[in-house]
Amino acid sequence: MLRLSSISKTYVNKESTVSALDSVDLYFNQTGFIGIIGESGSGKTTLLNIISLLDNPTSGEVLFFENNIFSLSKEEQDLFRREKVGYISQSYNLLENISVEDNLSLCLFDKENKNLINDILNKVKLLEYKTALAKNLSGGQKQRVAIARTLLQNPDILICDEPTSALDKDNSITIYEILKELSKEKLIIVSSHDYSLLSSYADRLISLENGKVVGDQIKSESKIIQVGNNSYTIRSGTKLSNSEVNELIDYLNDSSADRNFSISNNYINNKNKEEYEEKELSFERKKTSFKPLFNIVISILKNNKWRFAFSIILMFLCLSFIGTSLTFATYNEEENMISETLADNNSYASFDKYFLNENKRTVVSNISKSDIEDLKDCIPLDYYLTFKRQVFGFNAYFVDDEYMTYGRYYNYLCKGAIQYDSTIIDNNHCSLLSGSLPTNDNEILLTSIHYELFKCFGYKNGDVIINPSDITINSLIDKTFKIGSNNFIIKGIIDTKISVEKYQVLKNVLLDYNDRKNYNLYVEWSYYHNESPHCFIYTSNLTYLLDSIYGEGNSPAINTLSSFVPNDASIAKKIYHLNNKLIDGNNIYQIRSLSIHKVTSISSFLIPFSIASTVIAIITTILSFIFIYIFSLSITKDSMKVFGIIRSCGYSEKTTIASFLLEPLFVALLSSILSLTTIIFLQILLNDVFKVEFGVISNVFGINFFTSIFLVVIALIISILSTFIAFKVLSKKSFVSLIK
Ligand code: ADP
Ligand code: MG
Repeated sequence: MLRLSSISKTYVNKESTVSALDSVDLYFNQTGFIGIIGESGSGKTTLLNIISLLDNPTSGEVLFFENNIFSLSKEEQDLFRREKVGYISQSYNLLENISVEDNLSLCLFDKENKNLINDILNKVKLLEYKTALAKNLSGGQKQRVAIARTLLQNPDILICDEPTSALDKDNSITIYEILKELSKEKLIIVSSHDYSLLSSYADRLISLENGKVVGDQIKSESKIIQVGNNSYTIRSGTKLSNSEVNELIDYLNDSSADRNFSISNNYINNKNKEEYEEKELSFERKKTSFKPLFNIVISILKNNKWRFAFSIILMFLCLSFIGTSLTFATYNEEENMISETLADNNSYASFDKYFLNENKRTVVSNISKSDIEDLKDCIPLDYYLTFKRQVFGFNAYFVDDEYMTYGRYYNYLCKGAIQYDSTIIDNNHCSLLSGSLPTNDNEILLTSIHYELFKCFGYKNGDVIINPSDITINSLIDKTFKIGSNNFIIKGIIDTKISVEKYQVLKNVLLDYNDRKNYNLYVEWSYYHNESPHCFIYTSNLTYLLDSIYGEGNSPAINTLSSFVPNDASIAKKIYHLNNKLIDGNNIYQIRSLSIHKVTSISSFLIPFSIASTVIAIITTILSFIFIYIFSLSITKDSMKVFGIIRSCGYSEKTTIASFLLEPLFVALLSSILSLTTIIFLQILLNDVFKVEFGVISNVFGINFFTSIFLVVIALIISILSTFIAFKVLSKKSFVSLIK
């Protein structure tokens, strides 16, 4: 059945070349107990490893029914290890940290036959140790488990490399008895350097010396009886002659003699004619199950809790750093601008036009009609000519001027004026609350914000006094203000549809910088007064008003357009992109709105964080490489032997590696869940900080779907790929060096 043809094995080391096997030719039948005898170093293990497909010969062939097993495909070689050959080593090769049962199930390829484990454990008298961990068994017991495992595997050939060398005599005899029984049906090849015990069981003894076969004997029918210096060869069934019997009796009776008497097997040279059988190789157990491997991997995990925990922590740190850097890196100013605009009910924008002169900004001359048209083409809004600078103080007209005792809601300065245009009402930006629309140059409109001021502080101009409690929406109509050198008549009050509830709290608080929430609210509210059409007065002729303040010919240029901005993402986006963008080569619009103000202040605040996150990302990358190194090194170091044992039981490389990927898979999933949670928590925290510190309405950071997926993928790549590669490298090693 099994033929070795000129098998040689040479180990080439740096210092020396060792010829472990030298042209070994041998033939074995399908059954029988073969002993391989030889001193330590004679090549026994090398020979058995080659037969078991655990090592490759340097030259020569091992033929199984005349099929060279070394020219089988990888899959077929795995199948060969699984079905045809079982290997029991001197060091048992058990998986120490799992139970006897789990060790056995590794070779239980007939899944239906779970009872088989009990039967076989019974056979090797270990049934009561079924659930014991392999490491808690004695040497003899371990060796019996190893035999039981190969019995489950039920191979055609059973190879035992010095199975009893670590056992006492009683245990050794038990093992040999089991093997002897098995040799009736299988080919059993057992190596030993202990001739005496092996020779009482082996049907055939092959002697090795320096890698060469120096003897090949079979047990003869006869026995040799050694009496003193004389030996008698006795064939079973033959009778001793009378004189021989007498000689024996004399010898045994001679009390003065140093009696020396032994009976041993008689081996004669093997001259059997060899007839090579030829048969096509076929395999039955095509499939292996993951389940026993999972048990093993789980047990490895349990035994390496610290490594597992450490990997998760390290991976968690890596991912959290990467995730945090990503959080900053994926901060999107445009999106932030859009969400801020959408969240702001009182959105407005004022467009300041500047002339760019060698990076110095100079105010441009009057905004022309064509500018308004161009801007309309760019962003479809209604624009109003605006003058932004203090126009006059309302407080000059207050009855009750002890306003300093009030909170910061009331702003007594009028910070700008807008040229009234009927689209303000036609396009529903405002509605007229009382009075009528201005028609003359000296007629103005107030907004509901101004009306609130008078309602609180009253109106006084010369003899005309209206106490706060008497102020009604109509009582201010036709009253006058002096702006510059001219008197202006209040013709009406318009509602700009600003919602002020949010700012009402400022009525009751005095300004405190440390009260971040209210301070930010105050800054926000000031923005409305400084920039927005909600708090400016409306005149029918802006130039007339400015001439009145500055004198004719001295009026400053009007370089601003203001506008009400709807809650519209596309408009918010356009405004964001127009801001500070060079138009027609020399001019830029610098746009002011609460949204832009917040967005840009966040961005400038984030710059150091972006730099820090880049540094962190670099550190993280280095950390991940260290992680990869430690992780894969640790797993493969711990699992090398286990990997080798599993592979030598006939599990394919794919299946074995796949099951070992379970640990990194757990690490990746657990650590990514942990770090995602942390990152989300951190973002919630940061968002809150930004809301308090910067007064933003919307969330600045948000973990997006792709970031999450990216983190999980990174986790999987780092842990799984590194382990996969490490095991792939392991796979290149010979089984012998893995199991060693
Ligand atoms: P035995 O099992 O009979 O003790 P081995 O087959 O283990 O003998 O070894 C045979 C010879 O090959 C010895 O001289 C041993 O030193 C050498 N040898 C075995 N394995 C290696 C190896 N991996 N590298 C170098 N030499 C080896
Ligand atoms: Mg050996």
